[in-house]
Amino acid sequence: MENFFHDEIEKSVFISEEQLKDANMDKLYGRYWPDTYIYSVYPAALEGRGDYLCDVLPAGSAPREDGLSAVRTADGIDFYDGGKRLRVESYGLYQSIFSRNKGILETDVMSRKKAVILGCGSVGSLVAMELARAGVGSFLLADPDIVEYHNICRHQCGLEDAGDLKINALERKLKNINPSVQVAKFEGIVQNLPKAQLDEFCTPGDTVFVGCADNRAADVYTNRISIYYSAYFISIGFWERAYAGEIFYHIPGKGMPCYECALGDGGNISARIQANHHIYSNQENTEGLKFEPGISVDINFITTIGIKIIIDLLNQSSEDYIPRVLNHLKQYTVICNTSDPRIGGEMVEIFSYPLQITSSLVVGFGKKQCRDGGICKYELEEK
Ligand SMILES: [Zn+2]
Repeated sequence: MENFFHDEIEKSVFISEEQLKDANMDKLYGRYWPDTYIYSVYPAALEGRGDYLCDVLPAGSAPREDGLSAVRTADGIDFYDGGKRLRVESYGLYQSIFSRNKGILETDVMSRKKAVILGCGSVGSLVAMELARAGVGSFLLADPDIVEYHNICRHQCGLEDAGDLKINALERKLKNINPSVQVAKFEGIVQNLPKAQLDEFCTPGDTVFVGCADNRAADVYTNRISIYYSAYFISIGFWERAYAGEIFYHIPGKGMPCYECALGDGGNISARIQANHHIYSNQENTEGLKFEPGISVDINFITTIGIKIIIDLLNQSSEDYIPRVLNHLKQYTVICNTSDPRIGGEMVEIFSYPLQITSSLVVGFGKKQCRDGGICKYELEEK
């Protein structure tokens, strides 16, 4: 390969230090990028997705005369192209991926955190991707649906994923960010998630349940499970076309009302907000109705507020961590994309300006049967 001045441009190899040291690795997969002259060797978790590059030949072998060769050495692998030795840029995969989070999020702490993503559509896929970028190490993905063409303009997955289950497509995306991420999957809705799978996945204090299925029955159910596992809970839901959205969170063991206590029957939240509840689409009133949650940027604005809350929740027990939003946002937050009734209808008239994030809505124990001596009855249940 030559440049304008006939200087030879050297090819080089990107490979992780972990792989250079892995004596069991005998085949390499990845991509060659002709514009940069770089062979990028994929981490083992991604090898099925790359092109076959070459075998790793035993120590002392002669490199091939044409194409890429890899020869094992005492302390790693030497690479050759057309018999010529290549420059190798190796990197500590895990450290490199999260190097830019340093000083903001503790990578080791985050890697122990676990997220149960209930609903892997536009909202759940964004939550999962952002949590993976924040360093969350384990995911349990639950969703019964497949990726269809009409999902793509809002989903983190793309055309190459069409036809596969959303949980499989999202797993690929997560591993593309962090190949060491642990992914468990369930093809179905939260109400059918087997207890055994949750028992195996959940670690008290390190787990968050994220309700993204956009129906209240699922959120009531999920919050009850999260309490059982001493896990955090958050629900991210939307009004029609994502003109506005609602976020509710619950921290176990703090005497907070659960989703059912607070919102299950409309609760004691303000009358205006309560009047908007029918827009939210609970299971009964959406039968036969295709719920359209709006364009990606509107969904993502509201979802991002939820993700910030999740990161604060997961760092609750880290001494040095200063919460970004949790001390300012109450348990129930309503967020708008528009306050203009010409766009959002009369429902958005409660907002004073676009992109408003309420911080004043206080919820309490609205539902009497959920409370026992000031504590949600689910917190008192035998575990
Ligand atoms: Zn309750």
